[in-house]
Amino acid sequence: MDTEGHSLPSASCGDGRKRRVCYYYDPGIANVDYGADHNMVPRRVAMAHALVEKYGLLADMERLRVRPATEAELRAFHDDAYVRLLRDITPDAYHDGDLRDRARACRVGVPDPNEPEAGGAGAYIYDNPVIDGLWDYCLRYAGGSLAAARALVDGSSDIAINWSGGMHHACRGKASGFCYVNDIVLAIQELLKHFERVLYVDIDVHHGDGVEAHFKRESRVMTVSFHLYDIDRRGDKFFPGTGKAEDVGEGDGKYYTLNVPMKAGMDDERYQQLFRPIMDEVMEKFAPDAVVLQCGADSLYGDRLGEFRLSVKGHAGCVSYLRSFNVPLLLLGGGGYTVNHVASCWCYETAVAVGKEKEISDEIPFHGYEHYYKDQGYKLHFTVPKKNGNKKDDLIDKIKQDALMNLAMLKPPPTTVGEHRPSKRHAINVKAHYDQNQDKNQDKKAKKYRYHREDDDPMERLHRLCGEADRYNFFTELGKRKMSGLVNTTPSDSK
Ligand SMILES: [Zn+2]
Repeated sequence: MDTEGHSLPSASCGDGRKRRVCYYYDPGIANVDYGADHNMVPRRVAMAHALVEKYGLLADMERLRVRPATEAELRAFHDDAYVRLLRDITPDAYHDGDLRDRARACRVGVPDPNEPEAGGAGAYIYDNPVIDGLWDYCLRYAGGSLAAARALVDGSSDIAINWSGGMHHACRGKASGFCYVNDIVLAIQELLKHFERVLYVDIDVHHGDGVEAHFKRESRVMTVSFHLYDIDRRGDKFFPGTGKAEDVGEGDGKYYTLNVPMKAGMDDERYQQLFRPIMDEVMEKFAPDAVVLQCGADSLYGDRLGEFRLSVKGHAGCVSYLRSFNVPLLLLGGGGYTVNHVASCWCYETAVAVGKEKEISDEIPFHGYEHYYKDQGYKLHFTVPKKNGNKKDDLIDKIKQDALMNLAMLKPPPTTVGEHRPSKRHAINVKAHYDQNQDKNQDKKAKKYRYHREDDDPMERLHRLCGEADRYNFFTELGKRKMSGLVNTTPSDSK
């Protein structure tokens, strides 16, 4: 019997081992609407999922079907008043004024033209609007990350994925940067119940401030954030304005916080010149029992908010690199505001997780969302224009040296032989959240009857049907053109 999992050994990892991968997707999250002018579009997760499904990657993963998080689970990190606010706030309650002050104190609000301060300090409040279904949304994405963490803890998976999670800015008592509940902190706390040391790595273009702030005095959690630390396009500090190289943690957690601040325009080559040697050193020195990777996709080229120039392969290089260490790995989403780029990236990174990145076609398939990929030539790997400039970059050397100097201060991991080390295979009952056999059957069925998945949501179905209609129109039009002699069909002309 094959005990090494059902996905393929990854071409880019080189250890020849398969990984058991589980995956969380909740169609309910895709319909959440932050507002017409808001940069955050949760539907990007549905777009990524539609690609994952069309490329046939669901068959290589167990599907996590989980209950939403509970109020008590959110209180493991968030304070009571904030949790109650998230539970009670609705657009009506906000506009009627009942909860407005409480909401604004927690940085949750919507623009009001009558407010004198709108635009200034208010701008941060409006990052986190009062949206329909806010409470349900928070419980769902947090529930996904908790279940994914539990699948690593109970040993049923080597890699667990929740692209709707990764909300790294949320604080204990307030929302921040489009994030309400910090599912990452909750997931890490869950991992800490059973793993001795957990490494958190953040490749979002923004600093992972919420996670760092919570664990900065903790030596069992190491946080490493690669982010833009610069003046933004408007001349302000790039959000959230934290994450200097000198910020290394405090007390027992000193040097267990590592910040790698970068300038705008980071491309694949320079990013990996930092990421690989730094992560090598981190993995050696900290020797984590589990790794959480926040895969914010706003570090990709062409992001509406980010100012890096990573390609999909450059971004996914971080995933395959950390996968190669063969430590339980939790992959989470995060930022990402050019939705077609985000979906391309997270689909490809799902393929990396299951070891099929070399197998999936670069041609975006018909799947209901193909229109969104016009600007990238209907290719999964959008083109990043080459930039002329100096190849030698002293700044990269300086950033790397700063990071390695901080890492040199890190003590080697304590030997845990004979100590009370939590078991990696702690027996918890995940039956309620995770039904492998059922999933296997459903994935087989899904391949055969692709449009009749029982967990399909109407909007997804509509998108797929639109895709089918387009295909019909496309071939009909092509046929007409052939008939009228407008298309030359000789083989020598075809590409
Ligand atoms: Zn971000």
